[in-house]
Amino acid sequence: MEDRIPSLTPPDGTTVPSLGFGTWMMGENKAEAQAEIDAIRLALDLGMTVIDTAEMYADGDAEQVVGEALKDRRDEAFLVSKVLPWNASYDGTIAACTRSLHRLGTDRLDLYLLHWRGEHPLEDTVAAMEELKQAGRISAWGVSNFDVDDMEELFSVPDGDNCAVNQLLYNLSRRGIEFDLLPWCQEHRIPVMAYSPIEQGRILHNPELIHVAKAYQATPAQVALAFLLERECVMPIPKTSNLRRLQENRNAVDLDISDEDWARLDAAFPPPARKIPLEMI
Ligand code: NDP
Repeated sequence: MEDRIPSLTPPDGTTVPSLGFGTWMMGENKAEAQAEIDAIRLALDLGMTVIDTAEMYADGDAEQVVGEALKDRRDEAFLVSKVLPWNASYDGTIAACTRSLHRLGTDRLDLYLLHWRGEHPLEDTVAAMEELKQAGRISAWGVSNFDVDDMEELFSVPDGDNCAVNQLLYNLSRRGIEFDLLPWCQEHRIPVMAYSPIEQGRILHNPELIHVAKAYQATPAQVALAFLLERECVMPIPKTSNLRRLQENRNAVDLDISDEDWARLDAAFPPPARKIPLEMI
């Protein structure tokens, strides 16, 4: 029997599954739209109900695909979208959210993120996020690609500590956040949504990863996801439009890797020994 997907609790008290679903590169090609819709709907069936999208992806067309997939199933999803930094003034954030809601065919987001830091003062973006929350158009807000100094600055502005999530590049080959940012987020109970959790496929040919995967009759992608699922406060959000790979990703939850094999992977993908500036894709 499949294990249940473990859950994770952001500061606002909601409980969400700790394995989500990404949509970057969806909506780029009309011929693939149906396969993408089918994948999003299967993700819901499999309990991977956190669906991550952004106004940036395919210039809004990824949100359109998500909206189509959720049209009769909106309540089953925990829907996340993001505002681009150059839209993140007070008025710009509210306008961008309105456009995203329209494309997604819904009247509310469960979580709205600032995609990365830009020129607009954090105070203005946070004030807009709080206004959207008051109006019931979003349930919570967070950030993405924020390093420790950004988080500290965020927490110093009015209501900045209402931030519910930090979405970050994190996978076996990108472990820099383990030095300081991940502990900071864990201490503040801010879940980290780990993006590009299989490094967009680039780590899957690593011989050590293949070796460990074979020992569990698993795939390298599953072990890469298990590495993140193992960590407190971390939610990987792998993207796939392929139903077989989606089921495979879901089954990463069932893996139970030994300490010896984790040590093997630590040797192949060493944890950071010093501060590394935050990487992003
Ligand atoms: P991922 O690490 O999730 O890799 C996605 C790629 O891997 C796709 O090409 C997919 O192809 C392939 N893939 C998925 N599962 C498997 C598998 N089991 N075996 C082999 N190949 C597989 O990269 P992403 O960059 O897409 O990151 C995930 C999500 O994170 C994004 O979709 C987006 O929602 C978010 N993100 C956020 C960023 C931010 O700045 N906040 C930046 C980047 C991503 P196929 O579809 O053909 O299966």
